Amino acid sequence: MTIHNFNAGPSILPQEVKKQCLENIQNFNQSGLSILEIGHRTKEFEHIVAAASALLLDLMNLSSTEYDVVFLQGGATTQFSQIPMNFLADNETAHYINTGVWSSKAIQAAKDFGSVNVFASGEEKGFLSIPKNIVMPTQGAYVHLTSNNTIYGTQWNEFPASTLPFVVDMSSDILSREMNYNHFDFIYAGAQKNIGIAGCTIVVIKKTFYKKINRKIPQMLQYRLHIDNQSMLNTPPVFAIYVAYLTLSWIKEQGGVKAIGEKNKTKAKMLYDTIDASTVFKGTVEKEDRSMMNACFVANSEILEQEFLSICKQKGIYGIKGHRLSGGFRASLYNGLSIESVAYLCALMNEFDSSKK
Ligand code: PMP
Repeated sequence: MTIHNFNAGPSILPQEVKKQCLENIQNFNQSGLSILEIGHRTKEFEHIVAAASALLLDLMNLSSTEYDVVFLQGGATTQFSQIPMNFLADNETAHYINTGVWSSKAIQAAKDFGSVNVFASGEEKGFLSIPKNIVMPTQGAYVHLTSNNTIYGTQWNEFPASTLPFVVDMSSDILSREMNYNHFDFIYAGAQKNIGIAGCTIVVIKKTFYKKINRKIPQMLQYRLHIDNQSMLNTPPVFAIYVAYLTLSWIKEQGGVKAIGEKNKTKAKMLYDTIDASTVFKGTVEKEDRSMMNACFVANSEILEQEFLSICKQKGIYGIKGHRLSGGFRASLYNGLSIESVAYLCALMNEFDSSKK
């Protein structure tokens, strides 16, 4: 049975990437070695890191004279602390927008290092919409937002303009749509949703964002050292970076972020149209703020939800149970998911809907 993987992350990889992984686990670039066995300080791996960095900037339409790329470990969660540790001095304020669980975690982590101002929040509305009419702060260390809220299923369509350095957690929508990536001074994302597997965190930093703050920072947590060592300050997650390289190459082959974005838009429209036409299923968030990556919805009753979940299980649909905080369903529609998988889910939802009329 074909499995349709709607998991929120780690999540589906493109078929082609999985095939290349298998081949190169057996025999990396015809070397007779596995990609799992090669040294990180080899010409071959140095080439992969350089090519992955260049591809990432190219796909984001960013220039290497303006931005640096590093592949780190510790997930986006480490970035929640590492960013304020490096860029928020004790006597400064960083400004955060709270749009859900992941923003809240970033806010909590920043409080260890300096003062934190939450100047906009979706909390009062249960995080079911993106805050509107925001007045942006003009003084402080930086502004932080989460571009896509993986748990509640909301996403920023347009970003406010900032005169302060702008930091963004793009863990669940990086390279999933066209946007002005140069709107930001610092972009970070775990690779495990749209660009590969768990184990490597993508960090893109505008060179002008650096500043030296008066704090002792452990070497492994200094961005400067990672950049100066081309992501090889210590042994990097070789295989995770390799999978990111393959996935970035695949995105490029698909026609880049523009083409991927159109495909993602089609997938999201198919699913939201199905939800909106249904009498059983209902979307949970404000329509204009719906995420193209994580579609959250519920059924009319818990009994119906259980029934549909068990049908999904029988029919090969995997990973659509909602997060424990929001309940219901969450279908994640990341880059690697095919239009056919979404069509399959929509057909099953339509069938279920009709059976209840
Ligand atoms: N930010 C967002 C928006 C996320 O979705 C996640 C993980 N789902 C994280 C941060 C945390 O990422 P990690 O598990 O890589 O630390």
